[in-house]
Amino acid sequence: MSSPTICENLQNCSPEANPDLWNHSVSDKTQICEVDSPQGVRLHELPEFDVYVPSSLGEALTYLSGEGRGSRLLAGGTSLVPEMRKTGIRVRKVVDLSGLSDLHYIRRTQNTIRIGGLTTIRELTEAKIFDDRYCCFKELERSFGFVTTRNMATVGGNLAASAEGDLAEILLVLEGRAVIRSAKGERAVGPTNLGLADGELIVEVQFADLKGLVSTWFNKFEKRNEDGKGGIATTTLLKLKNDRSVEDVRIAVSRARWKETGRVRRAESELRGKIANAENVGRALDKLESEIDPAGDYRGSSRFRKEVTKAMVREGLAKCLEKLDRERGESQC
Ligand SMILES: Cc1cc2nc3c(=O)[nH]c(=O)nc-3n(C[C@H](O)[C@H](O)[C@H](O)COP(=O)(O)OP(=O)(O)OC[C@H]3O[C@@H](n4cnc5c(N)ncnc54)[C@H](O)[C@@H]3O)c2cc1C
Repeated sequence: MSSPTICENLQNCSPEANPDLWNHSVSDKTQICEVDSPQGVRLHELPEFDVYVPSSLGEALTYLSGEGRGSRLLAGGTSLVPEMRKTGIRVRKVVDLSGLSDLHYIRRTQNTIRIGGLTTIRELTEAKIFDDRYCCFKELERSFGFVTTRNMATVGGNLAASAEGDLAEILLVLEGRAVIRSAKGERAVGPTNLGLADGELIVEVQFADLKGLVSTWFNKFEKRNEDGKGGIATTTLLKLKNDRSVEDVRIAVSRARWKETGRVRRAESELRGKIANAENVGRALDKLESEIDPAGDYRGSSRFRKEVTKAMVREGLAKCLEKLDRERGESQC
């Protein structure tokens, strides 16, 4: 017997299939069920939809460009399903990507790291290919959703679901790109503002392998909510020369400008070329404070977000420095 697809699993979790899982009352007319949650969230029933399960990328792209036009792609489902349940959007056709094993990989080819679009967050955090230079990925284990979320959530799904997601921020610092394919061809963009069109699929993300005395860190103040939006997160990369001067520094923060995740290039410039010490880091952080303009919300005001972002970047740089100082010490022995 073949194992159930993601879609079958989801339907088995529906209130009709498994009423014991839900403490709710259903109205036939509105198709909204009230779930007994602390927030009193009102959730919609999943609509009926057709499911197509391609077994290769070629099959998926052909379907998407023909009879499957207008389909929604389903990878891990950790963003799409909550979106459907919360907004009640009508989805008629779903392409379940779980059969595309050709998009499940993490490879180093020459000087480039390539990660398949269906690689899960858990595979990313546990990948042996990533040494200590890639603490940014390892830190996702601590801060990305729950273990069940990390088991299902995919790299492609994270980039497609929200420009505020964790991977977009990390890839901004790694200066990565998303490779997007459709029946018409391929393009490489991003990692933010992907402008995904109907029939397009994120097949890979890629970035130049980190070399030399370099370290990265990812920091999150508060878990983002289930669509990956709203939390405060920062990613830092520090590359030193042997005399402890900064060869390269890259910093990305959530809500750098209003709700947009972005690099803080003025702060980076302030530190680049200087000796990495408390005084110079302090100057860079002052620049960062004047550079960012985060949108406030019910989680915290703009002022609060600025202060927390600044503290988190300080911590991220300190973590990188700590590691690089250890390495410099070892190489000098
Ligand atoms: C409890 C919980 C906690 C979460 N915590 C976090 C968090 O800490 N940080 C964070 O960033 N996110 C978080 N999320 C959001 C979500 O898990 C991520 O955005 C996840 O990576 C989405 O990937 P997925 O494979 O589940 O995508 P899906 O839900 O399957 O799809 C999401 C969207 O992307 C599209 N899509 C999927 N795959 C592709 C592809 N290959 N190419 C093009 N389009 C595609 C789908 O059509 C859909 O529109 C959380 C979610 C939950 C439920």
